[in-house]
Amino acid sequence: MRRFRLGLGVAAATAVFLLLAGAWPDGADRGAERDAAEPGDSASPSIAGAPAGEPSPTGEADPTPVEAEPTDGAEESSAPAHEPPSERSSGDVTAEPDTPARDAHGGPMGTRDHTGSNGVALTFDDGPDPNWTPKVLAELRERGVKATFCVIGAYAEAHPDLIADIVHDGHTLCSHTWFHELDLGERSTEEIRANLQRTEDAIEKAAPGAEVEYFRHPGGQWTDRAVEVAAEMGMESLHWDIDPSDWDRRTTEAQIRDRVLDAKPGSIILLHDGASNQEAMFGALGAILDEFARREYALVAL
Ligand SMILES: [Zn+2]
Repeated sequence: MRRFRLGLGVAAATAVFLLLAGAWPDGADRGAERDAAEPGDSASPSIAGAPAGEPSPTGEADPTPVEAEPTDGAEESSAPAHEPPSERSSGDVTAEPDTPARDAHGGPMGTRDHTGSNGVALTFDDGPDPNWTPKVLAELRERGVKATFCVIGAYAEAHPDLIADIVHDGHTLCSHTWFHELDLGERSTEEIRANLQRTEDAIEKAAPGAEVEYFRHPGGQWTDRAVEVAAEMGMESLHWDIDPSDWDRRTTEAQIRDRVLDAKPGSIILLHDGASNQEAMFGALGAILDEFARREYALVAL
């Protein structure tokens, strides 16, 4: 009987392992599984975030599930997808520390990819996240650093206190759509406007009177239409020039640190405080801020 029970235990453990392995496949399998799971997004090279509520590979609980379901796209995934590998452009910076600031709008569709000054901008996407956003805010507060947070509307609705904290600490807000719809820019003008308005309303409810000055399209999959609608709504479209791939759970802390430290004066750095590899990102953040301080870079909120 005992042996039988032991056998059952081993079988159960194996099943759990296989389940977890399936949820977080490594290597090339990952993209294929994601594509299969997200027919509505099969054209996108992006990587899906971990399903909300399931344990992460590190054994850490993932962000609280967002109860609010998106209503503007039944085919959408259960968690926001991330910036695609094709958007990586670290090392792409042309401005040297001692050269004049180049055109600040060299991103796709004329989006901003440079601060326009010697200041360097940290931007945090895909939050607010109840586990990681408070940690990032505390680290920035301790060092007196201002940054920009590109927030997801549904998460702002679920965690309004975190939006209020971001605003209270003097950071800049950026809209990252209602539920990280990677194809939003392909949709009609009306749909884009409704999505961004819903996001703005959630932010406004969380932090009345707070300005949302920027818009960042999920995955950097800009379209002229999305940029135009955002502009009509008073938001400048914000790209980046440094992407350390912290949206990818395979990226290590050292890789994130080294890639971010490719930044030059004027760089806009893409980081994530939600739905991605936050542990490695946060692990690298202290060393990044130390090195920027040593270089005497001014960190700006945009
Ligand atoms: Zn994103």
